[in-house]
Amino acid sequence: MKTQIGVDQSLARKYNSATILDHLRLHAPLSRAGLAKYTGLSRSSVSRIVDQLLSENLIHEIGAQQEKIGRPGTLIELNPAGGAAIGIEIGVDFVSAILTDFIARIQWRKHIDLPDEADLAAYLDASEELINQALLESKTCGLQPLGIGVGVWGLVDILKGEVRYAPNLNWRDVPLKRLWENRFGLTVFVDNNANAAAMGEYYLGSAKNGKDVDDFIFLSTGIGLGGGVINAGQVFRGWNGFAGEVGHMTIDPEGAACMCGKRGCWETVVGSRVGVQDYQRLTGKEVSFEELVTRLRAGDPASLEVFTKMARSLGIGIGNLVNVFNPRCIIIGGALEQISDIMLPIAKETFQKNSLIQSQKDIRIIPSTLGADSCVLGCVALVLDEVIRQRTKLS
Ligand SMILES: [Zn+2]
Repeated sequence: MKTQIGVDQSLARKYNSATILDHLRLHAPLSRAGLAKYTGLSRSSVSRIVDQLLSENLIHEIGAQQEKIGRPGTLIELNPAGGAAIGIEIGVDFVSAILTDFIARIQWRKHIDLPDEADLAAYLDASEELINQALLESKTCGLQPLGIGVGVWGLVDILKGEVRYAPNLNWRDVPLKRLWENRFGLTVFVDNNANAAAMGEYYLGSAKNGKDVDDFIFLSTGIGLGGGVINAGQVFRGWNGFAGEVGHMTIDPEGAACMCGKRGCWETVVGSRVGVQDYQRLTGKEVSFEELVTRLRAGDPASLEVFTKMARSLGIGIGNLVNVFNPRCIIIGGALEQISDIMLPIAKETFQKNSLIQSQKDIRIIPSTLGADSCVLGCVALVLDEVIRQRTKLS
């Protein structure tokens, strides 16, 4: 990230200011001297960039600290008043919104439930109502909106910001970015819900502050099973952006039919719907997923059998992922996160039998710390990441 001879100067400046903002995100408060030491940039480069970022209001000075040698240095950190980020999660039967300041502190939030029969127009209306409310709130807080991050439960073309296919919402080719950039005059980032949630964990959750966790996989468990792969601190997207669809890894070619049209995908054996179906097959009783969890906690043997089987399937899939990606960490979010104390020990045992011993070294399989908020906070992280690490010009 340091300036190199021959590199376009404006590009180098952008990289260097991203480096400084990211170091402040991770290690603030820091003095100019501390920033130079951490980043390897020259003192004069640091001073020039810090002046620029101060003028943009993205950082602020918070007093002096005596350095070991020389004059006291003024400490700097990210400025909470540097702007507002809006996050919108569009899930099956709901839309959820959060407004945060520049250091991701929640200023306002709202959740709207939608009926089963809600069509695209109903989802768009609810989302736009929430965005309008968030914009009003940001005005009240005196925060300039920096952008809108959107996480959708489906396949997303992130360059165009279009939802290609969302089977559970019954959406195809919805140009959310174009629609909302025209309507709200702000930059809109649209991503798959699991990718957004992975960014949420990276910025704000289980993998926060780097802490040597630049390589991890977030598993979003619910009706389906999504994945967000973070590789070297960035979402791994693959050739045309659809990487991470881990729920459709084939676990058993002779297995149950999947929503995608194939058989035996991982999400046909791990998820809330399959748990409910297995329980009904076993006992003849029809219960909700929440009731199934309650019964598990109460010691119901049939419920334990269902989740034990599911945990083993979870472990088999994790073993495959670990062999391919060699992550430092696997984070379990979504519906199964609440019973990770019961499921993860079983999953870990199976995973250890099904992955290369070298890849298992020091790996952690842990529950999400953001819980149900991982996606909507991840949407906020999509906006903040653009300002902090990508430094593309925002409207
Ligand atoms: Zn499938």
